[in-house]
Amino acid sequence: MASSSAGNSVFVGTEKTRILIDAGLSRKQTLLRLASIGEDPSKLDAVFITHEHSDHILGLPAIARGLKIPVFLTKRTAPLIDWNGAVPQVEEFQAGAAIELGDMSIQSFTIPHDAVDPVGYSVTAGGLKFSVATDLGYMPDSVKWHIDGSHILLLESNHDLDMLKAGPYPWAVKQRVLSRKGHLSNNLACDYIRSNLTSSVQTLILGHLSEHNNHPSIAEISAVQALQERSASPRLIVATPRVQTDLFHL
Ligand SMILES: [Zn+2]
Ligand SMILES: [Zn+2]
Repeated sequence: MASSSAGNSVFVGTEKTRILIDAGLSRKQTLLRLASIGEDPSKLDAVFITHEHSDHILGLPAIARGLKIPVFLTKRTAPLIDWNGAVPQVEEFQAGAAIELGDMSIQSFTIPHDAVDPVGYSVTAGGLKFSVATDLGYMPDSVKWHIDGSHILLLESNHDLDMLKAGPYPWAVKQRVLSRKGHLSNNLACDYIRSNLTSSVQTLILGHLSEHNNHPSIAEISAVQALQERSASPRLIVATPRVQTDLFHL
């Protein structure tokens, strides 16, 4: 539904099971966007959280309380959430664990990012695999391994290096973004596409774009070139900051 430095929330649904990955939009925006894709919020089964940064949990307390659904997050992330009142049903898991929920298998995997215990997810259902790989400073082999074989891949393409260097962020923040526990640049996303993108990917979504240090067309142009070098031609979507991303059916 949204993927950018301004807020992240992904809806994943099958006939039987419906989840959100992250709740970085307000409760109101989350409900509006679910309604716009014809999804009844009361039918959500759970929320899965990647890490405790506010662009991933902003609406979480209100959403979990309002919908009375369990929240899955890692053991070390759980104590960091300020529930702001009543604590919902919290399901803690060890980073790296796989969780079976309805007809979905949700595999967590550790990502290199400056949060306490951040994870990405691969969701498999009915022989199809969807992976979220955002908020990572670089692409470790272990993450490549986990997202291999995905049919839909949400891949971070956070910043253009020149825009970041010339941009408005203080030096310390620039250093943070660029570090191996920061965010994946357009260049690093393209390196992954060029060298490792699996041929199973039918839809590639570039996400978690920075509002200040990137532009959708810049991310897109470089990804198109990398896909050509990979001789791959999945549907390519660029998730524009603050704009709802389409629903994809497989
Ligand atoms: Zn983060
Ligand atoms: Zn983030």
